[in-house]
This record gives sequence, C-alpha cells and structure tokens, in this order.
Amino acid sequence: MVEGAGVGPKIGVLALQGDFDAHRRAIERAGGEAVEVRTAAELEAVAGLILPGGESTTMLKLLHEEKLFEPLKEFGARKPIFGTCAGAILLAKEVLNPRQESLGLMDATVERNGYGRQIDSRIVDIDLEGEPSEAVFIRAPIIRQVGPEAKVLGKYMEDPVLIEEGRHLAATFHPELGRDVRIHRRFVEKVKRAA
Ligand code: GLN
Repeated sequence: MVEGAGVGPKIGVLALQGDFDAHRRAIERAGGEAVEVRTAAELEAVAGLILPGGESTTMLKLLHEEKLFEPLKEFGARKPIFGTCAGAILLAKEVLNPRQESLGLMDATVERNGYGRQIDSRIVDIDLEGEPSEAVFIRAPIIRQVGPEAKVLGKYMEDPVLIEEGRHLAATFHPELGRDVRIHRRFVEKVKRAA
C-alpha cells in the first residue's frame, strides 16, 4: 500500500489493472490521501474508491477472481465510488457493445468504444459546468442514457462525459491524466462529506 501525503479520509484506488497510479497522484494533487486496494479487507478500510481506466472486461474477470465483485457492490451501496472510462463502464447499470456484466450502481447506459475511431485517443476541450476543461479520451465509452437522478456535469459534443448520481461520479475520459484537478477535488470533497 502506498500512503499519500494528504489529510482526511482514505480514498482507495482499485489497483488490479489499468492506470491506478495516475489516480493516486491525482488524489494527492487534490489534497486527499490515496491507498491502493486489491483485497476485500483493503476495501473495507477506505471511505471512497476510484475505479480506474483500463480494460473493463479484464477488470471484471479480476474482480471475480479476487472475490471483490460482490463486496464492491455492497461498498457502493454505502460509500462513494468514482469510475473513469473502464471504471465508468463497471459502474453503469447497462453496458452495450457488447453487453457485459456490471456493478449497476449508476442509472446509466454506456456503449463501450462508443466514439469509434473518431476520438480513439485524443485530447479535447469539454464543457465542465460551463467552463472549458482539457480531457483525455482513450477508447472511451459513450454515455447513451442517464436516469432522472443523474446530474450531467461535463459534456462533449452534446453527450454527457461526466455524471454524478448521488454519492457516485463517472467520467468517460481520464481526469487523472489531465492537468485539471477540479474533478478529483470534487470527489475528495464528496468522500469527506460522506465519511
Ligand atoms: N475501451 C475500454 C473498455 O471497454 C475502456 C478504455 C479505457 O479505460 N481507457 O473497457
């Protein structure tokens, strides 16, 4: 486990696969304390969790192998989760292209690789609550539908790219790879409020 320098409740970063180390650093830049999570016991010790980008199919497989799938669902029923890219796919209620299992913690439908080649891997300006923000997209899913409780905080070409629903947050891009620390700061604040 890597201990962060920040103060406040510990924020876990699921460290089975993907770009979890970039999230740890982003949490620290945002003034939070980050720890890596690989087991159910480590999960129980954190006040919020980040599901990083990577490969959602591989992550799902590893979650089952590590017996973390059900504990994660229960965790999400009580504590905040922030999913980015593959992590957002895991959080959604419905996954398309192809259909796959998910935690179903957010009322959203996402289509994997939904932007096609159009923004396979690109840095673009999104609209983040009315202000421009640089966002890194890597084989991003597209959010096709959100439930009535969802707040759309970020948009790109009219589609939601950052949504908040109750305690959870999901981004189809990679805020941990950009310079804008506002989104991680928002999650750190959500975890503090919930803790
Ligand atoms: N395309 C990947 C998936 O479907 C997500 C890509 C990412 O996390 N950068 O899981």
